[in-house]
Amino acid sequence: MPNDLPDLPFDPAHCLIGGRWRAAAGGTLELGNPSDGSRLCAIARGQAAEIDAAVAAAQAARQGEWGRMTAAERGRILSRIGRLVLERVEELARLEALDVGKPLTQARADAVALARYMEFYGGAADKVTGETIPYLDGYTVYTLREAHGVTGHIVPWNYPMQIIGRSVGAALAMGNACVLKPAEEACLTALMFGWIAGEAGLPPGALNIVPGTGAAAGAALSAHPGVQHLSFTGSVATGRLVQAAAAQNVVPVTLELGGKSPQVVFADADLDRALPFLVNAGIQNAGQTCSASSRILVQREVYGEVRARMAERYRALRVGPALADLQVGPLISARQKAIVEGFLARGSDLVRAAEGVLEDAPPGGHYVAPVLFADVPPDHPLAQDEIFGPVQVLIPFADEAEAARIANGTAYGLVASVWTADGGRQMRLAKALRAGQVFVNNYGAGGGVELPFGGVGQSGHGREKGFEALYGFSQLKTVAAWHG
Ligand code: NAD
Repeated sequence: MPNDLPDLPFDPAHCLIGGRWRAAAGGTLELGNPSDGSRLCAIARGQAAEIDAAVAAAQAARQGEWGRMTAAERGRILSRIGRLVLERVEELARLEALDVGKPLTQARADAVALARYMEFYGGAADKVTGETIPYLDGYTVYTLREAHGVTGHIVPWNYPMQIIGRSVGAALAMGNACVLKPAEEACLTALMFGWIAGEAGLPPGALNIVPGTGAAAGAALSAHPGVQHLSFTGSVATGRLVQAAAAQNVVPVTLELGGKSPQVVFADADLDRALPFLVNAGIQNAGQTCSASSRILVQREVYGEVRARMAERYRALRVGPALADLQVGPLISARQKAIVEGFLARGSDLVRAAEGVLEDAPPGGHYVAPVLFADVPPDHPLAQDEIFGPVQVLIPFADEAEAARIANGTAYGLVASVWTADGGRQMRLAKALRAGQVFVNNYGAGGGVELPFGGVGQSGHGREKGFEALYGFSQLKTVAAWHG
């Protein structure tokens, strides 16, 4: 099969450590194209040795030029990275489409978001201030916001650019030196980002990138005693391992895990506005989105209408290769496809309201047509478990109290939305819904560079994105000076 990979300005089989591209002692792993199953290229199989070297390079960067830079200088470099990313949006989007299987339009939006993260954190780097605190007579007390030191970033394959933007961007803004472990399923835009950062003048060692498996490179990074903060985005099961490893070194950890995010539609909602959000938030990136809206709760008075109009949209969904840029691409891997098909089999007792159409699905690709299930009991596994595929469930409800009870009735709490024209109800539900983000009359799956983001319950803890992330990627020092 043809290999569509463009020429890259770095060797994708290398790690980026201390500003140098180098092979991993453990050899390489193979990267595949989810759209047709063809081989894309080899990537480094980083292991403990490369993680050790990357942490040492990060420590050296903290002691060197990077550690001595003013916040304004750091901000200027981040802004420059943002400009270079913008110049390469098409290149990055194509790379992501090939690597993740994400339709080009969606991959392009991720690349633009990456640039926007760099602009945002570039501008914010010198805006983080401490405070003075009234204390005893004869004292002046103030606080300083300082970098943790070396930060570890473990990211998944579904939104590499956005997740790197939000975590590495904020960490660099605060002066940390980063070690990034991208996912073994997709890491080309992570490597490209590292190359662009070097071009923009980021000093060697401020950002190190070690691809490799989770069990080897990921575990070595989370257990490394030279790391002072961990940012993990991925599954609940791995999040537990990372938090346990962080506990051994007594370092803080941010966990951005999964979700089963609801959209709650009341009878007085503007359905014309709601409809595109109801469907797109579920099928974006083939449903492989932590903040995907996989549950649609609808008040009984409009349930039939919403079901019919969502079904109509589902029947218009076309599924095919990422470069064909249809509404839905393939899933990341055969393994992910098997997981999603397993869920579909568990839904054999449910009503299928509608399905999307496989338009062009090369045999080696990992395609699943989107499915909308209707009248799903709130305690059914398909209404409780994260599927991470293009599957949504419709659940009817009677009133506000029942809506809140069902919406809050899973182990997760990442994002929620409420669709209603009633201002009082908007405010009540915004408080009642158990989630890190609540949208009113809209839904922002993964969007909103400026908006703090994170979960409650099994969706994780800690906040990334927005200005809030800068507090997480720094620590507070209190200085109490007695001067009489
Ligand atoms: P995963 O946990 O298997 O992998 C995520 C990352 O962790 C990868 O880089 C992987 O190599 C690494 N890893 C795996 N085992 C490890 C270990 N023992 N120690 C350290 N690192 C290890 O997750 P996945 O299945 O690839 O990703 C899908 C999951 O991620 C879904 O549950 C999804 O909801 C979640 N997710 C959450 C967010 C968010 O922001 N909340 C964003 C994207 C994905």
